Amino acid sequence: MAKRDYYEVLGVNKSANKDEIKKAYRKLALKYHPDKNKGDKGAEEKFKEASEAYHVLSDEKRKTNYDQFGHAAFQGGGQGGFGNFDFSSSFSDIFEDVFGDFGFGTSSGSRRSRSNNRGSDLRYDVSIDLNDAFTGTEKKINYTTYKKCKTCTGSGAKPGSKPSACSYCGGQGRVRSSQGFFTIQQTCPQCGGEGEKITNPCNKCSGMGKTQSDESVSVKIPKGVDDGTRIRLAGKGEAGSKGGANGDLYLFVSVQSHSIFKRSEENLYYELPISIADAALGATVEVPSIDGGKTKIKIPSGTQSGKQLRLKGKGMPILRRNIFGDLYIRIVTEVPTSLTKKQKELLEEFKTLEDTKSNPLIKTFFDKAKKFWKN
Ligand SMILES: [Zn+2]
Ligand SMILES: [Zn+2]
Repeated sequence: MAKRDYYEVLGVNKSANKDEIKKAYRKLALKYHPDKNKGDKGAEEKFKEASEAYHVLSDEKRKTNYDQFGHAAFQGGGQGGFGNFDFSSSFSDIFEDVFGDFGFGTSSGSRRSRSNNRGSDLRYDVSIDLNDAFTGTEKKINYTTYKKCKTCTGSGAKPGSKPSACSYCGGQGRVRSSQGFFTIQQTCPQCGGEGEKITNPCNKCSGMGKTQSDESVSVKIPKGVDDGTRIRLAGKGEAGSKGGANGDLYLFVSVQSHSIFKRSEENLYYELPISIADAALGATVEVPSIDGGKTKIKIPSGTQSGKQLRLKGKGMPILRRNIFGDLYIRIVTEVPTSLTKKQKELLEEFKTLEDTKSNPLIKTFFDKAKKFWKN
């Protein structure tokens, strides 16, 4: 059977906002929840379909992928890792999200998904200059994080002792109570959902299972990074708890502005001032390029202010591709702001020699103006 459009499944249109999507899903989830439709296969399918649609549309990134590529975005376990909707593991997250701390009663015991034990991600801001972004660089960064406690190997219990099951929830991490229509499941207030209590905490980490630690890591920053590029260092974040995975460390790169070059993605720009004599007569000028070298460019005679020259391949490298952008040079003619006596004499002589052929723009404009004044 062909997969139905996620928006159609939830009965919302494409412009629906987060709240509308959540509301629509909530309604369907209440209607088709298996606890209310015992043994009804059709309801169960509908429930799963709606949950899957919500899983995708409630997440900014997944939604963007879906809007762009449709169901194909998640096929083949490609980007987004959503080849098959893993119902059981995504489900509790969805419910936490939609129904807050209250879940539906289920018999599966502890609902804590493993992701709750995952360590926190860390952010580190690093600033580099444009030359570094051009060549790529390596930065050593120092940061403080939580690492698994060596004394108790992360259990939080004093070596030789063991955590005991929480007596309040019987080790389930959740307690249930009836509330009208549904059986409500709640995080155990005694153990905070852990399901166990440490009676004999480790001295080193006071039962946390983690200790603070100063870390240092060398990071390769690839050439072509731009302002706002994020580099993910998997597993370099905070240690997880209870065997959970480490978080990641994210490097947020900012690229400082340059005194000459302006950047727009892979292209570079600057304004090149030239004298009126060079503009009129033509010239060859050596100009800077981002690799630190000089490039000779030819300014043709009669070059107007504002003319743009393009130097192919003299821009920035494109991240993870061996291609370069271009350098655009905009010519600005600089009118002298002060003149020597001799220069003044020569220019005055030049003025007497001016004729309309050498300044076609001036002639055209005043021809139009004369007509305008006549009418
Ligand atoms: Zn410890
Ligand atoms: Zn408990």
